[in-house]
Amino acid sequence: MSIVVLGSANLDLVYRVQNIPGPGETVLAASRASHPGGKGNNQATAAVRAGAAASFIVSVGQDEAGAMLLDGLESDGVRVSARRVTEPTGTALITVADSGENSIVVDSGANSLLAELTETELGIIEEAGILLMQLEVPVETVGRAAAVAHAAGALVVLNAAPIRELEAELLAAVDLLIVNEHEAFRLLADTGLQATEATVAAELLLELVPAVIITLGAAGALVAERGKSVRTVPAFEVTAVDTTGAGDTFCGALVAALEAQREAGANDLELESAARFASAAAAISVQRAGAVPSIPGRQEIEDFLG
Ligand code: ADP
Repeated sequence: MSIVVLGSANLDLVYRVQNIPGPGETVLAASRASHPGGKGNNQATAAVRAGAAASFIVSVGQDEAGAMLLDGLESDGVRVSARRVTEPTGTALITVADSGENSIVVDSGANSLLAELTETELGIIEEAGILLMQLEVPVETVGRAAAVAHAAGALVVLNAAPIRELEAELLAAVDLLIVNEHEAFRLLADTGLQATEATVAAELLLELVPAVIITLGAAGALVAERGKSVRTVPAFEVTAVDTTGAGDTFCGALVAALEAQREAGANDLELESAARFASAAAAISVQRAGAVPSIPGRQEIEDFLG
């Protein structure tokens, strides 16, 4: 039993600009860099660097970007189950302004072909102790994988980002939902519920799933479980230089901590202590540039926690 991540991999093209261009405007970039990215890729990497064994089900193109992403994952020790499809590898065009604000355009490319799970992929999912997914691949695939893992007794964790409307059937197979504040409000609005305050949103989301974490950036995270009061896990105070991938680092480190609890023989998983570990990993990552390059290793997280 171990962690299985199903999700996207993209090549991030990051342009540093003074101001993000508006409609009709052309600006010159101060620099350009390309990094591995995509929520699935980032979260699988974060889980492995945080000390877990993880498999990653992914679809990339038969191009240089695809090869580069797979090399990166393998060198991190992620067990990759990759489809190499004729569509180009997904890309994200990111502009980062001097103010730190960004704008992102994603071309899903090969990620959109991660449909109709193969026998091999289904076999990997059936063996999972924890299945972690996001919403950058077809939602039908996420639904199917959730149902299979749920039926096999795995803990199904969904980071519902980028947010979109979700079928009740998918949510019924989710054990733990991780969303930021904006995603939480959107998800509730889609189901006819309303909240303008994160604690209320966390309580309302418990009507849909048994456990919820709402991340609140520098304000930390809320942990909510049915039958317990909502708890706050404060963020660590650090100077953030780039928050890209903070949420992904949090999700990957969180499942690594949960898996470690399981391996230590815990019957009831302690979400709050896993969230504290995840929040330390994310706090380290925001102090460095980039998504994947900023993700810390287990020792560094433990040293940070002291
Ligand atoms: P997302 O990027 O998905 O919106 P958040 O911005 O909520 O996610 O960040 C996820 C987690 O990362 C937070 O719950 C927090 O623990 C940590 N984090 C984010 N920004 C900061 C920051 N400026 N300082 C310290 N920790 C942060």
